[in-house]
Amino acid sequence: MPKDYACSECELTISIGSYHGYDGEYITAMYCRHCGAQYYLQQSTSQFYAGNEQTEEEIALYTVRGPACIQDIVVSEHEPTPSLICDNCRVEGQFGSAGPITDRPPEGFGDDYDPFSGSDSMPVGICPGCRSRTMKFQDEWTT
Ligand SMILES: [Zn+2]
Ligand SMILES: [Zn+2]
Repeated sequence: MPKDYACSECELTISIGSYHGYDGEYITAMYCRHCGAQYYLQQSTSQFYAGNEQTEEEIALYTVRGPACIQDIVVSEHEPTPSLICDNCRVEGQFGSAGPITDRPPEGFGDDYDPFSGSDSMPVGICPGCRSRTMKFQDEWTT
């Protein structure tokens, strides 16, 4: 279930997390950690559930919907991981969570941050848009 984070300084809101799309595909909401642009990664549900298990084709197909462009990404076991360029700020980096376009929480939250862990203190992260430490978890939405 995707989670929203919002910045009180520049009013940027980003969503992160996976959900089922209306057309039966699996969507992962992501953002660019350099500028805060929102992205949606689309893949088939069967591919999503296959995870890292080998598929017969040994390739995985993804569609990345950005603020301006739609990019098709092919990840093959026998090729280096493709790179991705942000539509908005043009930063280039490896496709995947460790790259510039990621589904990990903003800087300051920790990769496995869980807003429902029961801890009293709500962390404040760094906004990918304006770089202020004003990014807070806002909401989780169900699909
Ligand atoms: Zn901001
Ligand atoms: Zn960017």
